[in-house]
Amino acid sequence: MSGAFETSQRGCDHPGCEEPGKYRAPRSPDKLDDYFWFCKDHVREYNLKWNFFDGTTEQDLADQVQKDRVWERPTKPFGRPSEEQRAWSRLGIEDPHQVLGENATRNPGKAAKGGSRRLPPTERRAVEILDVQDNMSKAAIRKAYKALIKVLHPDMNGGDRSHEEQLSEVVWAWDQIKASRNFKDGD
Ligand SMILES: [Zn+2]
Repeated sequence: MSGAFETSQRGCDHPGCEEPGKYRAPRSPDKLDDYFWFCKDHVREYNLKWNFFDGTTEQDLADQVQKDRVWERPTKPFGRPSEEQRAWSRLGIEDPHQVLGENATRNPGKAAKGGSRRLPPTERRAVEILDVQDNMSKAAIRKAYKALIKVLHPDMNGGDRSHEEQLSEVVWAWDQIKASRNFKDGD
């Protein structure tokens, strides 16, 4: 549905993302010549959502995008360095909240891409496999999981079994999230 456009001078349209927007994706099923421009990660995320919402209304998609914006708010301070964070990083400390907060440690790990929480390694891996944000609710992660299943499952893609290994990883990952107390239930 999209390849990189090296000539694009746009920034990624995903709120808060500052990567170049080299990948385009149609804004809605009935406006196929009107595009969003995204970085590689966000076009992938968008395309997964697109697959998930296949068959639902444009309004549902708009509602979901709005919800995603709400969910992103808590992570924004980590996305764009504040003066305070720049000051801390000059002292060699990447994340003062991990140093000074309730999970205080003298040796804070570098926050994973898109994530600012400490999670057990199995859950961190699950978040990476499902390609979700670690502050999403179980309900939101379940949607991403269902979209992946839809793409990977042989019954859903004409009997193609080439993704079975990836499919079982995805199922494993959702099992970790489902059983975890680190993710809130609702959306
Ligand atoms: Zn982006």
